[in-house]
Amino acid sequence: MSEYAVELENVDKVYRLGPGVEVHALNGVSLLVGKGDFISIMGPSGSGKTTLLNIIGTMDRPTAGRVKIDGVDVTDMGEGQLADFRCVKMGYLFQFFNLISTLDAVENVKLPIILSGRCTEREADSRARDLLELVSLQETVWRNRPVQMSGGERQRVALARALANEPALIMMDEPTGALDTVTGANVMKLTQMLNEFSGQTFIVVSHNPLVAKMAKKIYYIRDGRLYENPPESLMKFEAELSYPERRALFANQLRLLKESLLMLEKRWQGGDISRDTYAVAKLKITSQLERITAGLESAGRAVGSS
Ligand code: ADP
Ligand code: MG
Repeated sequence: MSEYAVELENVDKVYRLGPGVEVHALNGVSLLVGKGDFISIMGPSGSGKTTLLNIIGTMDRPTAGRVKIDGVDVTDMGEGQLADFRCVKMGYLFQFFNLISTLDAVENVKLPIILSGRCTEREADSRARDLLELVSLQETVWRNRPVQMSGGERQRVALARALANEPALIMMDEPTGALDTVTGANVMKLTQMLNEFSGQTFIVVSHNPLVAKMAKKIYYIRDGRLYENPPESLMKFEAELSYPERRALFANQLRLLKESLLMLEKRWQGGDISRDTYAVAKLKITSQLERITAGLESAGRAVGSS
């Protein structure tokens, strides 16, 4: 038996959109996740989180590289075998819950237990109730359908469903993405406790640092590459532009505004617009020019002071 829940070896994923047009969603991703671990993978939208999670979850296949789950190489496993594998080994939780709208809470959790064929309907029913209790879903909503539940309640049901067949590995894709901060934090706290007490392995992907930091270990993903430490230069661009970039941006705006001012003057002199229109527009443009000039200066100061 392997000591790892997940072993990825140099995984690439390339989407071919058309002749000569490719998206490299994952680039040489290697990752070892120990049994009982709780890791998060954090990255901005489009960085490859869902692609990576789908490959670990055997819902998608890599273009290159190998994937082992619980010591079993699933890279080339046939679809039929994979379906069984997923049913007993994996639990999934998604941003938008993906509950079945015509079933109530108990029935939603019961369904995968019945599908696994491991127990009778009665046993499945009692297990579903135990699970709903485990995720602290109030008993008053157990017979409610998803539309009759709050977002947080739905995510608890989805979590209970993910746990239904005692999977070795639970994967969560933006689990709090559709929840408010407090409700989301509660779902993550619950996940922490489950990991602590059950010894099951959890992998959560999210763009949200508050979610990511609930895990025992955080990985970072950017442009399909996985990092163990935050890639400073790469993570930064969301926060601010570099001084030369800001300078270039301001300088362009300045140039455009000055051009507009000249054009405006010509149109007034040519009799296209009235003096008043000219005066009002000029005032607006000039004040914008001043603001941008100030911005340019502060961009310079920021560099000088750092
Ligand atoms: P994330 O979950 O971090 O937002 P994704 O894994 O969904 O990122 O996407 C990673 C990259 O792969 C993006 O550039 C996305 O557009 C592309 N991509 C994802 N799925 C497909 C697909 N089925 N076909 C083509 N490109 C895809
Ligand atoms: Mg995604």
